[in-house]
Amino acid sequence: KGAGQPKPGLLGRLLGRGGDAGVVRRALDDDMLEQLEELLIAADMGVDTALRVTANLAEGRMGKRLSTQEIKELLAQEIARIMEPVAKPMPLYRKTPQVVLVVGVNGSGKTTTIGKLASQFRAAGKSVVIAAGDTFRAAAVEQLQVWGERAGVPVLTAPEGSDPASLAFDAMGQAQAEGADLLMIDTAGRLQNRADLMEELAKIVRVIRKKDPDAPHNTLLVLDATTGQNALSQVETFRKLADVSGLVMTKLDGTAKGGVLVALADRFGLPIHAIGVGEQIDDLAPFDPEEFAAALTG
Ligand code: GDP
Repeated sequence: KGAGQPKPGLLGRLLGRGGDAGVVRRALDDDMLEQLEELLIAADMGVDTALRVTANLAEGRMGKRLSTQEIKELLAQEIARIMEPVAKPMPLYRKTPQVVLVVGVNGSGKTTTIGKLASQFRAAGKSVVIAAGDTFRAAAVEQLQVWGERAGVPVLTAPEGSDPASLAFDAMGQAQAEGADLLMIDTAGRLQNRADLMEELAKIVRVIRKKDPDAPHNTLLVLDATTGQNALSQVETFRKLADVSGLVMTKLDGTAKGGVLVALADRFGLPIHAIGVGEQIDDLAPFDPEEFAAALTG
């Protein structure tokens, strides 16, 4: 579709400044490479990744006369090459219920993503149960119930302030009893007290393992792409709190900061299972590296 990919044209506009419509050829020199690096850094790709991309692009091409269009295509190729290995849908296992633990800071789009994923699984004929594990935020629980209704999926809740691990344990029991295909567990995103959050997540994992030693089968970290470089430190933090197995990048609709995905792929190599491209239930798309690279380079 292309809808919802990063706002096209960031690099394109900058590369094309001078209004040459992409056809004027320039020799690839150090000055040009430096300009390219600046563009990539401005797109939130981070210094290390920007340098690597331009170095790869320059290899064997110094002094060659290239049009801006050719440079854009080469850039897109280099970016797609970094992104291809991480573009993987969330694996589905035979064993049920498959437990999906969903982590991330508040506001990253956890609730919305759980709703969208539940809807996709339902559409694929899977039965899903959601556990509203952020028991400290009444609003989060209500939001999740709204999404559950939209997706046609039951949402298990517990009283405000109660132990999320005990909810997760009960939810696991119910999902097993019902023979559900998937159990998605929402979690709190309060990074203000990391020690508490770490203990909370560890306890959830501990209790669900009493019912299935392989659970959780997936631990999804939801990241807001508009936070730019901040997303990198969130990965670092959450990897210490939980055994993150994959990423969902939200809010890729209308951001020029999509370059952070390249930095994430380059630095961590974690699979990107899906991207959020809007606030509606169908606005979750598989990650397509080529489409992404083309949109980013414009
Ligand atoms: P949570 O606190 O992590 O559970 O975050 P929410 O799911 O409540 O999302 C926070 C805000 O981001 C809400 O206003 C959502 O509508 C919005 N949101 C979530 N995903 C996307 C997305 O992919 N695109 C856009 N534009 N907004 C999103």
